[in-house]
Amino acid sequence: MRNVILLRFGELFLKGDNRHIFESMLISNIKTKLSSYDFKFEKTFGRYVISDYQASLEDDIVGELKKVFGLYSLSLAKEVDADRDAIEGIVRTIDCEGKSFKVSVKRADKRFSIPSMEFAKILGGVVLDNYKTASVDLYNPQIEIKVDIRLNGKAYIYVDEIKCQGGLPLGSAGKGLLLLSGGIDSPVAGYLIAKRGLRLEALHFHSYPYTSVEAKEKVLSLAEKLCEYVDNIKLHIISFTQVQEEIHKRCRPEYMITIMRRIMMRVASRLCDKYDLGCIITGESLGQVASQTMQSMAVTGAMANRPVFRPCIAMDKEEIMKIARDIATYDISILPYEDCCTVFLPKNPVIKPVASKVEKEEGYLNIEALVNDCLEKEEMVEIVKPKQ
Ligand code: ATP
Ligand code: MG
Repeated sequence: MRNVILLRFGELFLKGDNRHIFESMLISNIKTKLSSYDFKFEKTFGRYVISDYQASLEDDIVGELKKVFGLYSLSLAKEVDADRDAIEGIVRTIDCEGKSFKVSVKRADKRFSIPSMEFAKILGGVVLDNYKTASVDLYNPQIEIKVDIRLNGKAYIYVDEIKCQGGLPLGSAGKGLLLLSGGIDSPVAGYLIAKRGLRLEALHFHSYPYTSVEAKEKVLSLAEKLCEYVDNIKLHIISFTQVQEEIHKRCRPEYMITIMRRIMMRVASRLCDKYDLGCIITGESLGQVASQTMQSMAVTGAMANRPVFRPCIAMDKEEIMKIARDIATYDISILPYEDCCTVFLPKNPVIKPVASKVEKEEGYLNIEALVNDCLEKEEMVEIVKPKQ
C-alpha cells in the first residue's frame, strides 16, 4: 500500500490537438511548485499521481498543489494492487462508525472480474460488518468511499475530493503586464488573469516623496503574495512624481486623473514593447470611481497599444474583497499608505471625458518627454515566492 495524492485536471480536456502542450506546461508547473520536496510523479491514466513523499509534509505539499492553476481537484488516496482482498483491507480502515456512507466503484480495468455495482455492494457489506452503527445512504451520505480500479493494475481508494484552483496552466496564455497599485483590486485582477494561464510582470508607479517608502514596500509585499501562485514576477517600478507635478502645474485639475491614466497606459505600452509582453491588466471595475466609467476607460484604453484586460470589471467591491481575502492580499492592501493616484486628487474629476478635450489639455504637456523620462527612471526588482 502506498499513500498517494491523485490529481485531476479540468479544462485541458477541451484543448484538442494542443492538449499535450497544455499538459506538459501543467506538469512542469507542478514540478516547479514542489521543487523543494522529494516526491515521485507519475502520469498514469488521465490523472497524475504524486507518491513517495515524506508523510509529515503531506499538508504542505497539498497546500502547494492547491495553488497550481490548471489542477481541478485532488484526493489523498491509498494505492493498492487491484485485488479484492487488498481493496477490502483498506475499505475496512475507513471509520464509518455512527455515519451514513456510500461506496462507489469505477472499474476501468475489466481484468478485475467483479462488475462495479456488485463490488460496491460487497464493499458496503464489509463496512456494515465492521462498523455496527454505520448505515447506507445512497443519496446524501456523510462519507462517500470511492474505489477507482485503473488500467495500471492498481486500485485507488479515497474519501474526499479537495477542490483546487481550476483555470489553465500558468504560461499557456503568454505573458502580460499588470498595473499594480497598493489597493485591493489590482492584485485580485492579477490573480484572476494568471488563473487563465497568463504569466505576469508588474508595473508600479510611485510618487516619492509625496508617497512613502512604506507605500512602495507594500507593493513589493503584494507582488510577493501573488508569487505564491505565479512563482515569480518582474516588478518594474517607475517614479510618477514629475508627471504628476507637470499635469498639476499645466492642466485643468478635473483632467488630472484622466491624463495620469493615459500617461500610465502609454508607459505601460512602451514597457510591453521593451519586454515583449502581450497585454496590459488593470484592477478597474465599472463605475467604482470617476476614472472607471465607460467613457474614462475609452480615453485611457485608447493609449494602450495592446489589449487591456480588466478581470474585475463586472465585480462588486464585496466580491473583489472576498477573493483578496482568499489569496491573502487583503490585509496588505488595507495598510494605510497613500497610492500615487491619491496625490493631487481633484475635487471634481471629469466622469465622462471627451477625447478632444483631453487632447487639448495634454497639449500643454510634452508627453513624449514625460514618458521617456519615466522609462529612463525604471527600476526593476525580481520578486519570487517567499521561502516557507
Ligand atoms: P486598486 O485597488 O487596484 O488600487 P482602485 O479602485 O484604487 O483599485 P484606481 O486607483 O482608480 O483603483 O486604479 C485603477 C487601476 O489603475 C488599478 O487597479 C491599477 O491597475 C491601476 N493603478 C492605479 N494606481 C496605480 C499605480 N500607482 N501603479 C500602477 N498601477 C496603478
Ligand atoms: Mg488604487
